[in-house]
Amino acid sequence: MRLNDKIAVITGAASGIGLEIARTFANEGARVALADRAAPEVEHAAAGIVDQGGRALPIVMDVTDEQQVDQGMAQVVTAFGRIDILVSNAGIQIVAPLEQMALADWRRLLAVHLDGAFLTTRAALRQMYAQGGGCIIYMGSVHSKEASVLKAPYVTAKHGLIGLAKVVAKEGARHGVRANVICPGFVRTALVERQLPEQAAARGLTEEEVIRDVMLKDTVDGQFTTTRDVAEAAVFLAAFDSGALTGQSLVVSHGWCMQ
Ligand code: NAD
Repeated sequence: MRLNDKIAVITGAASGIGLEIARTFANEGARVALADRAAPEVEHAAAGIVDQGGRALPIVMDVTDEQQVDQGMAQVVTAFGRIDILVSNAGIQIVAPLEQMALADWRRLLAVHLDGAFLTTRAALRQMYAQGGGCIIYMGSVHSKEASVLKAPYVTAKHGLIGLAKVVAKEGARHGVRANVICPGFVRTALVERQLPEQAAARGLTEEEVIRDVMLKDTVDGQFTTTRDVAEAAVFLAAFDSGALTGQSLVVSHGWCMQ
């Protein structure tokens, strides 16, 4: 098993990509703390892993709330003793043209993606520095590299995560901490299902046309990336065994974005 006895915290782990990463990490031998904002959902997600023989702890945490993040990370250390891996994954999407974007929506999205990444990183680093190492993975996006219409705060936040990862890679190196970003293409999770009707209305297209002509248009094979694809990339980054792989971003997008 590639993550035997590692302790991992995954935010946004009650659904979609985060849940798949938690399940995959548990199957690879890790003890996983699933952090998400609503108790019933995150408890259900963790119980599903325990039912399959995994070791999982639900943590109720709104990643935009400093106190909840610090308390939640402390809970993980109390339960498991350390934090080897942080996957900063919690995210939302808000689709609107810039001239109609409300300031409150702009701030809400940046708070989840950027304040959330900062607060969980800071709490994780304090523990990782004390224990002598660790690994942080940020859930970026092809929108960390490319822009799309209707997604100004999302594109801005996802580009920002690459900057944060590079700083963590530099500051963390002497403490044995690595930081990298995964940049998935479109994955058919709740986050994408919700935006299909919104994008269709905003562009005057059917939902099928949004999938074919917008979301998958520039992939090499017209395929969605899967939660499994992203989880495999996360295991690869988490299990990497030296400081050589840090400050990088790995695009997993069926060739939508080629660097
Ligand atoms: P999802 O909606 O299935 O999961 C997102 C999770 O984040 C949910 O469980 C939600 O409750 C949680 N969350 C939201 N706000 C939170 C907060 N303030 N505190 C704690 N948890 C919070 O969506 P997903 O597609 O699995 O998205 C996961 C990550 O992957 C996001 O960062 C997203 O931007 C990124 N991503 C998704 C895609 C895609 O196509 N689905 C592509 C690239 C990147």
